[in-house]
Amino acid sequence: MSDALAPILPGATIGFLGGGQLGRMTAMAARSMGYDVIVLDPDPDCSARPVASRTFTAKWSDAAAAAELAKLADVVTLEIEQIPLATLHAVAQHRPLHPRADAVHIVQDRARQKEWLVREGFPLGAVRTVDTAEECTAAIALLGPSIVKSAHGGYDGRGQVRVTTAAEGAAAFHGVGGGRAVVEQFLSIREELSVLVARSANGEVAVYPPSRNHHTDGVLTWAVIPAGATETLSRDAMALARAITERLDIVGLLAVELFVLDDGTLLVNELAPRPHNTYHHSERSCATSQFEQLVRAVCGLPLGDTAVAVPGAIHNVLGDLWVDGAPPDFAAAMRVRGVRVHLYGKPESRPGRKMGHLSAVGATADEALARVREAYALLRPSAS
Ligand code: ATP
Ligand code: MG
Repeated sequence: MSDALAPILPGATIGFLGGGQLGRMTAMAARSMGYDVIVLDPDPDCSARPVASRTFTAKWSDAAAAAELAKLADVVTLEIEQIPLATLHAVAQHRPLHPRADAVHIVQDRARQKEWLVREGFPLGAVRTVDTAEECTAAIALLGPSIVKSAHGGYDGRGQVRVTTAAEGAAAFHGVGGGRAVVEQFLSIREELSVLVARSANGEVAVYPPSRNHHTDGVLTWAVIPAGATETLSRDAMALARAITERLDIVGLLAVELFVLDDGTLLVNELAPRPHNTYHHSERSCATSQFEQLVRAVCGLPLGDTAVAVPGAIHNVLGDLWVDGAPPDFAAAMRVRGVRVHLYGKPESRPGRKMGHLSAVGATADEALARVREAYALLRPSAS
């Protein structure tokens, strides 16, 4: 027990399962604090590679490679939840893995996650798990206009089809892959919030104030903090996210995506047991960024201050802005006061691919948001 409480101090090595932008930014925070970083990712050109002293290129199913990474690390964490349980167990056999394998297992499958949330009594929109086209059709007949989402592998709005009538059920079921899926009633959403919770290896919890988020076609466009929610709504959202984190026994980070309905009802959309796109502004706005906080949490260090020191916003930059491989006009964006450009070092742009983001601080949340939106419009003036 006393071993578990001893912090893993700078100088130690942190292993990352996943070297995408979330792994890269966490690795940079770990480096700043004096940790060594090693990474496993299937992509040899993954974003975290330049920050890691060693990169293992292996499939997620390669439990032996993950065990090798673990043996060279003092502690292991992850930036992606779609990792087979056997690989997570192989890591945990050698070194502490945060968050724990069973919690990741619950979250990584949309159906399993939603069933767990319902079972634990957390508030959720009406949802059904379906395994056949017939079940999908029946669920839509029951729920009305809905979104059909694949249980596995969907992110950034991929693997989702919106339907209005049961007649579309079979096509939607096959359209999202023809495997297990969830049918979610289409909700009338007033606003979207998220809450990020950090929990350290010794049980300390720190909750960030809510972020307000805007999505376009299922993909995050911008996020701003503070969210401008009422005192009561903020408190309820933070308490809900904290309760889910403790119930799941997460060590590390848990992002809880929330819907606020037209009548003010707060519902859980989904969970992510890792850094989250909607908290990239924490790098500018909070004394402790989500990336540093993850390092602190998995190393059993005291958690940092989560209060908003200055209002901030981010705007995603997707690959759509690259024309024939030519990047957008980042210099123009940087002329806007308070704006910074963050790029993830991805060698290839593709439509829909998250290439980077813009961040800004401001005197108010509205000003920070206006600045990133202005800067974004300058990236490709002809397009706007
Ligand atoms: P990400 O990886 O970006 O978090 P995802 O692919 O897992 O996204 P969801 O979070 O399920 O997808 O949905 C993406 C967005 O689609 C939501 O943030 C929301 O804007 C919209 N959406 C999802 N489910 C519903 C619903 N039941 N009713 C109305 N809108 C929804
Ligand atoms: Mg989501």
